[in-house]
Amino acid sequence: MKTITDYQNKNILVLGMAKSGYAAAVLLKKLGANVIVNDSKPLAENPLATELQGQGMEVVCGGHPLELLEKNISLVVKNPGIPYSNPLLVAAKEKNIPIVTEVELAYRISEAPFIGITGSNGKTTTTTLTFEMLKEGEKHPVIAGNIGTVACEVAQDVTEQQVVVTELSSFQLMGIETFQPKIAVLLNLFEAHLDYHGTKKEYGLAKANIFRNQTENDYSIINADDEDVMMLIEQSKGQKVYFSTTKMIEDGACVKDGALYFKGEKVIDIQDIVLPGKHNLENILAAMSIAKLMGVANEAIIAVLKRFTGVKHRLEYVTTIGNRKFYNDSKATNMLATEKALSAFTQPVILLAGGLDRGNEFDDLIPYFGHVKALLTFGQTAPKLVKAAEKAGMKVIKRVDNVEQAVQEAYALSEEGDVILLSPACASWDQFKTFEERGDMFIQAVHKLV
Ligand code: ADP
Repeated sequence: MKTITDYQNKNILVLGMAKSGYAAAVLLKKLGANVIVNDSKPLAENPLATELQGQGMEVVCGGHPLELLEKNISLVVKNPGIPYSNPLLVAAKEKNIPIVTEVELAYRISEAPFIGITGSNGKTTTTTLTFEMLKEGEKHPVIAGNIGTVACEVAQDVTEQQVVVTELSSFQLMGIETFQPKIAVLLNLFEAHLDYHGTKKEYGLAKANIFRNQTENDYSIINADDEDVMMLIEQSKGQKVYFSTTKMIEDGACVKDGALYFKGEKVIDIQDIVLPGKHNLENILAAMSIAKLMGVANEAIIAVLKRFTGVKHRLEYVTTIGNRKFYNDSKATNMLATEKALSAFTQPVILLAGGLDRGNEFDDLIPYFGHVKALLTFGQTAPKLVKAAEKAGMKVIKRVDNVEQAVQEAYALSEEGDVILLSPACASWDQFKTFEERGDMFIQAVHKLV
């Protein structure tokens, strides 16, 4: 860990007591700061804040009193989820107090360089793939942030020989000042989180922060198929490396004659890649570009792509039983994700879908139902999904009570060569605690078939 003296005896306010806030507070205390912790949840319901109080920090819980700023605060470290419209943050901004997120702190103390991956969709998959490729190529990566351990904790232990791979949300990226990833990736930009960012433009600008401090010694990896991304990249001073699934890119990553190429050199035949879906090809091209720029050998990249079955619950290949392939895409909590999943297959699909009703209809799925031979639907949205499947002229449509029953019925209906896919297009909270629980139930039910 780099020794930083900037925070010694400074009053620093840590706002929001999730795992990252807790880690930031502990780190800042270690660096000699007077840490003040603030969280909206009362102390009695706040074990992390209670623990920090036990460590001698000043803890204010149950609201965000503006008086906190009267303590000569020199820095605010905020949880990424707290909006900038929060009155305490508005007041801090008026007083010109810098406001950062925990990843900025992690970067400042880290001896290892960072690789940052952002985008509206595909972050977790690309980050995991990148980590696997760098590990296989013996580049000593560590994964930090949303997946894995909090960045602030990871950053304390890494050495110059390692590399920190981190997935970054737009919320985290709004709170950076000096963060300068050696390699930054912007995968794509869809309309998302408008409640937080206001407009798509603002959201895009927050994401483009990933390139803000890059210099000509760094790399910016960009999806050449996404016009919004291409517009944002103009700001980057890093060396630009483009990837595309549709265009030839001589000095970047692309698809040619059924294979993936990097800078004109063939890396792998697509038929050798386990992970299905065109969207995943984008994620793979991005991860492969990082690996190549880091000097990973093709053999290592190939080895990972031949075994990587997907991140859990994201179009994850589960198993094959009786020549029927099972996929768990429980993370598909909206229609867009289910559209991607359905587009990933050309063979007949039996779709398991349904869940929490958010008021929308499912007609947007109809164009993707061409190869869906049957729908097994459950949960609150079952009647609406039945309606969409009927409109699409699907032959077999059945309502079932739960995921387990859906798996049994799907198997009974299926024929050799079919894909049986859980991709619910809905949140899980009507029947499950989390989408993970729903995916686990699916996997269990599949394994019970044999
Ligand atoms: P994130 O971490 O950004 O939420 P994930 O890797 O967890 O992304 O993938 C979540 C879902 O997003 C997947 O199930 C898939 O439906 C969709 N997705 C993944 N990668 C892409 C991509 N490159 N483009 C569009 N959609 C994608």
